[in-house]
Amino acid sequence: MKKYLFNPENKFYKANLHCHTTVSDGQFTPAEIKERYAAEGYSIVAYSDHDRVVPHPELMDENFIPLTAGEYSLNDRPDTVYPWYTIQTYHLNFISKDINAKEFLDWDKNQYGVESVNRLIEEASARGYICQYNHPRWSMQVPQDFIGLDIFSFEIYNTAAEDDLFCGDGEYEYELFCRAGGKCGVAANDDNHRERHHFGGFTMVSAPSLTYDNVIKALENGDSYATCGPLIKELYVEDGVLHIKTSPCSRIGVLTDSRCHGCAEGKDMESAEIALDFPHEYIRIVVCDDMGRRAWTRAYFDV
Ligand SMILES: [Zn+2]
Ligand SMILES: [Zn+2]
Repeated sequence: MKKYLFNPENKFYKANLHCHTTVSDGQFTPAEIKERYAAEGYSIVAYSDHDRVVPHPELMDENFIPLTAGEYSLNDRPDTVYPWYTIQTYHLNFISKDINAKEFLDWDKNQYGVESVNRLIEEASARGYICQYNHPRWSMQVPQDFIGLDIFSFEIYNTAAEDDLFCGDGEYEYELFCRAGGKCGVAANDDNHRERHHFGGFTMVSAPSLTYDNVIKALENGDSYATCGPLIKELYVEDGVLHIKTSPCSRIGVLTDSRCHGCAEGKDMESAEIALDFPHEYIRIVVCDDMGRRAWTRAYFDV
């Protein structure tokens, strides 16, 4: 029997789940962001300006979903006393299930630690928000800061952090999160403040059709993957063998919680079958193209 990791009847929609506009410290207005991202084939942008939730329902149409969101921070020391560039900090994107949401929590910036953050995530959840953990390396965080977070998505790549500070990669941090039993989706996002951050990493969301509710459900379920270029078109397991179809690529890896792994290599590969005949608590798939760009799935614990 086939176990589909992406429902073959769904479509993939291109998303940027982390974005700044002139509502906070971004270069472009919300409407300009829509125009630019829609022109590049994006169907979904989360408008996650700093420390506020400002909905943009006027930007919604049949081909574009403006997710209502805000990026909130929690610091290990007050950034009003210590220089901001020395503090460890959580940056969390809260995305609302309600496009018209404006209210958020009263936010104390200095409640550091997994327990405090999970309490805030729970309070936010009661108000209809889901939470994505952003750019661990830019935030100067260590495993004890993120293992155990109750999040729907882990930012595995951040274009702006990579472009500005060579620290956009979060794959190893995600690996540590999974090895500790963490379960969530993955996202690659631009975190665009300026034009040079546009169109780096993106997230492909698998949904039956493009509606606000379907996008939220897909994100909650982890029906998405993250990429800097390669596309995953089909993914299922049948009789202990992983079947994958992709855009042209040169390596496909099946990674696990240990050194056990599977791999397929070739020139302009567009599909592979990899036997899962090794011990694994979970598998996650990495696709690499000729230019070294990667796509990442979340960890699947039930295959
Ligand atoms: Zn941030
Ligand atoms: Zn940001």
